[in-house]
Amino acid sequence: MTEDFLTENRAKKTKLYEGKAKVVYPSGDPGLVHMVFKDDATAFNGEKRGTIKGKGHLNAQISAILFKYLEENGIPTHFVSLDDKTSMTVKLLKIFPIEVVVRNIIAGHLAERVGRPEGEDLPFPIIELYYKSDELGDPLLNDDHILALGLASREEIDHLKSQARKINSLLKNFFMERGLLLVDFKLEFGRVVSVAEDGTVVEGEIVLGDEISPDTCRFWDAETRMKLDKDRFRRDLGGVEEAYAEVLRRIS
Ligand code: UDP
Repeated sequence: MTEDFLTENRAKKTKLYEGKAKVVYPSGDPGLVHMVFKDDATAFNGEKRGTIKGKGHLNAQISAILFKYLEENGIPTHFVSLDDKTSMTVKLLKIFPIEVVVRNIIAGHLAERVGRPEGEDLPFPIIELYYKSDELGDPLLNDDHILALGLASREEIDHLKSQARKINSLLKNFFMERGLLLVDFKLEFGRVVSVAEDGTVVEGEIVLGDEISPDTCRFWDAETRMKLDKDRFRRDLGGVEEAYAEVLRRIS
């Protein structure tokens, strides 16, 4: 896709979707969309808002590197190509309304919920599933809730969890080799959507979607345990742009 096409499309404001950190535009191909990463940052379910200069660029580059790495290691993702500084072409997905969180070290909400200090190693990775709903504040769900509410089938839940475990093993090692601890992170999955010749919408295989970046992961320096992720914004620690740039530098 040329930059002209992207600029023209954006100027026409033909947005398919706008979220807190990304905007999705049509691509001209019904099975593909352009995902543009914004500098806008929110935390605490939208209560705290701000701008992190250069974040869109950094998160697009970081996500592209990680999606490529996962694809090379047998994990199907929605990633197709990086188009310009802040935008990538991805497959159109029907996203499960479920956020899959993987935790290797106690931090964030888990520390509060179980009354343990941040930084304690977990004996094995914990997987948590949350209902993707801003109005409800993304409540924690168990498998029975998901089945009873019809959000996913037994097979789909098992597949999401097994993919999340594989992704965690791959990324934990990838970051460790680059001097970073992968503390926890959030994933979203969906089914690839295509339109058949007769116009019917066909749902295909389950792939990893959304983004993988310091907005959605906690990264700590392996030596100093310095935070290099969105907690710098959430907790007003300063050096936010520098932290995101450092993550890109380490994985480039
Ligand atoms: N996370 C996310 N989006 C959310 C909630 C959490 O990307 O809506 C990520 C978050 O960045 C962290 C992990 O999931 O890496 C676990 O977050 P936690 O449940 O501790 O919540 P937080 O303290 O980040 O609000």
